[in-house]
Amino acid sequence: MTVGNSTQPKLRVSGATKVYNTRSGDLLAIDRCSLDIMPGEIVSIVGPSGCGKTTLLWSMSGLHGLSAGQVLLDGKQITGPNPEIGMVFQEANLLPWRNLDSNIHFPFEIKGTKPDRVWIDELLNRVGMEGFGGRYPRELSGGMQQRAALVRALSYKPSVLLMDEPFGALDAFTREEMNRLVEEIWLDTHTTIVLITHSIEEAIFLSDRIVVMSPRPGRVANIHTVPFPRPRSLEIMSTKEVFDLTNAIKLEIVGTQQSRFAQGTPPAAKAAE
Ligand code: ADP
Ligand code: MG
Repeated sequence: MTVGNSTQPKLRVSGATKVYNTRSGDLLAIDRCSLDIMPGEIVSIVGPSGCGKTTLLWSMSGLHGLSAGQVLLDGKQITGPNPEIGMVFQEANLLPWRNLDSNIHFPFEIKGTKPDRVWIDELLNRVGMEGFGGRYPRELSGGMQQRAALVRALSYKPSVLLMDEPFGALDAFTREEMNRLVEEIWLDTHTTIVLITHSIEEAIFLSDRIVVMSPRPGRVANIHTVPFPRPRSLEIMSTKEVFDLTNAIKLEIVGTQQSRFAQGTPPAAKAAE
């Protein structure tokens, strides 16, 4: 084993288990999930709907506690929200009565800290939104709102960015633009990124590794390494290797779903050979 900080995981999820106490009883959402995410890595989490992806990401962010297991950030247990961790959700969640600048400043106001305007302007510039600070959310397209949410999340200079289906509500073209934007930002900052997505193509385009979760209770079913060099061009993305990896992951997800649906039903008659 190599010694030294460079080999210490940025995030270590260890035996993460979460039970929700609901009115109809306890619901085991994730079960003993373990995963190391190295500094500067981009890791995607994919899996069937309801398998516990959001639950796992919230645990990583400190937004909610675990029933068992722990999450370590730089070796220290996460017990609550942490400025080192930025988050982007499917909805941009901008406050409609505040303009863009004032939305970006809002978390700083709550904390009573001073925003780094030079950095924020650099980010706005980077996402192509310079000069938009006075606009209100209703004046911005869905793609622009998500860019603003990305700027807000990065304005703290977090060392980890957690994103929960951040581009799921955008049209395919805008989504590809956003993927390229995230790649560009990553090439500049090497922020550690964990991304939940339903799009295997998006996961392959952005990630170093792709975690496939089983149906609920979510467990780490498989981890794929994505070997393609960056930046990932259209040429790379249209190779047979990418196609094969996409299909393999899709089959894994569909396969786990099928086995869930098959539970409790008699085994299908064996097809005649
Ligand atoms: P995913 O993001 O993969 O779709 P979630 O983590 O949102 O899955 O949910 C996993 C399971 O936990 C689902 O069955 C969901 O209904 C349940 N769940 C999620 N959040 C809560 C909550 N706050 N209270 C009770 N059950 C919840
Ligand atoms: Mg979710």
